[in-house]
Amino acid sequence: MSGLTRRCVLAGSAAAAIGATVGGAIAAAPPVGKTGPGIYRYRIGSYELTALYDGIWYRPIGQDFIRNVAFAEVEHALDAAFMPHDKLTTPFTTLIVNTGQKLVLLDTGTGGQIAPTAGMIVANLAAAGIAPKDVDQIAISHFHPDHINGIKDKDNNLIFPNAEIMVPEAEWAFWMDDANMNAAPAAMKETFRNQRRIFTDIAKQVARFAPGKEVAPGIVTLAAPGHTPGHTVFAVHSGSESLMVLSDTAQHPAVFARHPDWQASFDVDGQETVVTRKKLFDRAAADRMLVTGYHFPFPALGHLVKTASGYEHVPVEWQTTL
Ligand SMILES: [Zn+2]
Repeated sequence: MSGLTRRCVLAGSAAAAIGATVGGAIAAAPPVGKTGPGIYRYRIGSYELTALYDGIWYRPIGQDFIRNVAFAEVEHALDAAFMPHDKLTTPFTTLIVNTGQKLVLLDTGTGGQIAPTAGMIVANLAAAGIAPKDVDQIAISHFHPDHINGIKDKDNNLIFPNAEIMVPEAEWAFWMDDANMNAAPAAMKETFRNQRRIFTDIAKQVARFAPGKEVAPGIVTLAAPGHTPGHTVFAVHSGSESLMVLSDTAQHPAVFARHPDWQASFDVDGQETVVTRKKLFDRAAADRMLVTGYHFPFPALGHLVKTASGYEHVPVEWQTTL
């Protein structure tokens, strides 16, 4: 018998003994079968932030997942992170910033249009006490479907009817260009078509910003190209505190923070992705900045530590008071 098994048996005996002592007070409870809402609230200076879990997608991967290393090496990394070999664990976390004047949503989630296990933003907003109509502004990091599809529901209705939508102008220029769509490989054409579904009929309502633009007071944009040409990260500043919103600078940190040189098949420019990732991660590690990543494990918040071969993500502790 292993030590673990023996301990379980001993604990079971102890519980049985206690139950006997108190006269059978241990009642059987039916399983609940679900978890609580995916909300995590924290402060940056006077701003109140709400991380909203949209769900998770187990994205199928294969030999071509990482362009610049053999898949055996990728499998080794997935093993080290207790992840399956044939899927990339891809959670989605969007962020509401309450500046005191405005509710700003950074990226919109999947709109329930990527995987049956994602599309929980509206339910989690409700659990957070926020109505979609109260969101004043949406700022988009880049045009991949898991970031923009939550602008609309499946029937093409706006989910956040009063929100001003702000997008990186370099994203618009690249993805909304029909010549780029026509030249793209077949698999990528679907991405272009999806962007037209989301944006074409609301184009006049979509504001385009250049890197460096402060989209709302204290929310500054920075160019972070590579993953897509106009991929953008956000720095949120209030008082003496700051947060770096890394968007898709790295997807799951157990894969891409530990292996910052890896170029994923879904990066439009793999080399540029790596340069951008290292620049931002070096800065976050050196300045001990709080960071959040769209595909980091919920609540997607923590710090980055530089290691001999890459970076390690150190998650925050759950907090009971703000
Ligand atoms: Zn993404």
